[in-house]
Amino acid sequence: MSFSKRMSRIKPSGIRAVQKRIAGKSDMISFAAGLPDPALYPLEDLRKAADTMLEKEGATAFAYGLTKGYGPLLDYLTDRMNNREHVECTKENICILSGSQQGLGLAAMTFLDEGDVVITENPSYLGAINAFRPYGAEFVGVDTDDDGIVIEDLERALEENPKTKMIYVIPNFQNPTGKAWTLERRERFMEVVAKYDVAVVEDNPYGDLRFKGEPLPHLRALDKKGQVIYLGSFSKILSPGMRVAWTCASKEVATAFESLKETNDLQSPELTQMLTYYYLKMFDLEKHIEEIQVVYKERCELMVEMIQKYFPAEIKYTDPEGGMFLWLELPEGLDSDAILDDALAAGIAYIPGESFFSFDGVKNTIRMNFTMVKDDQIRDGIRILGDVFRKHIG
Ligand code: PMP
Repeated sequence: MSFSKRMSRIKPSGIRAVQKRIAGKSDMISFAAGLPDPALYPLEDLRKAADTMLEKEGATAFAYGLTKGYGPLLDYLTDRMNNREHVECTKENICILSGSQQGLGLAAMTFLDEGDVVITENPSYLGAINAFRPYGAEFVGVDTDDDGIVIEDLERALEENPKTKMIYVIPNFQNPTGKAWTLERRERFMEVVAKYDVAVVEDNPYGDLRFKGEPLPHLRALDKKGQVIYLGSFSKILSPGMRVAWTCASKEVATAFESLKETNDLQSPELTQMLTYYYLKMFDLEKHIEEIQVVYKERCELMVEMIQKYFPAEIKYTDPEGGMFLWLELPEGLDSDAILDDALAAGIAYIPGESFFSFDGVKNTIRMNFTMVKDDQIRDGIRILGDVFRKHIG
């Protein structure tokens, strides 16, 4: 059996490699997770929603449904995008997805041919890079600073790469850096990309996890040409395992996604779409999100405080206003992958940053998760990690 050329382009995930090394070690303090805290799922409310759903819907909850999604949930999402996210749209612009991860694959399938160019932030979400890789596109990375993507570098990348078909960005609390773009950066980004015939994928799984500052407009809300493909998800605010997410894009793109989705998985599970809808109808999602924000804010602030206290001053860190991650930059010349051996031996896990770049060679960065660790684990873990780093910095 010979696999397709596409298969040879798939790279093993750097995250899974760390998770394999720590599997079964229950006393390990892990900053390597990429998950929302399951203790914050609204279990009791979901159970009540499920009971009501089963009583009212019976067999239809277990039947096939439409590829585009469960009608009442599509109506809810249309309303949410218009009135809460301030993105003008109709139901025609929406397609429900099996996780925003599916949207990344569908975007790649829709836009990318071999030799095309995808621009991403430097670093970017590993799961997106891996979803785009099989299509044979070239990656061009554009750096970000504290305010977001660096516009001059983006302009240069677009000028130098006329085969750019797609730009993939995460303007809110990026995975892996935790950075969020300022309003000015969002506006300037849209001014620049409007001059080019490119699709922009705006991946926003973390936008609702803002625990400081004011929400800022989505790129899709600033988009006058219909080039932005917005991806929203219930994974980080309700449950990742239900696999319910959506795109809000131009009618043409939403329709293309629907056709491709039909060949991909026919539909997202009727059961979890309906359950999401019943939960939304019966309970207050915004109140639930506020509860999550309070917990994540405390954990993030504690992590930053401990970093300031225990890490050598040479280590740079981001101080996120939301999301699930912060990003460390060790002094040039240090190798976070090699240091991981010592960290694991001391009972601490993290994800070396190299796999979040579309190219090899950035050795001195680390992604740290703050949503899956309790306060005492943050205190102990950061102190111990500080000692490990100090040993290497000398
Ligand atoms: N995009 C980003 C930036 C993510 O971090 C993740 C999840 N880790 C996803 C997409 C996929 O999320 P979903 O569960 O909606 O497929």
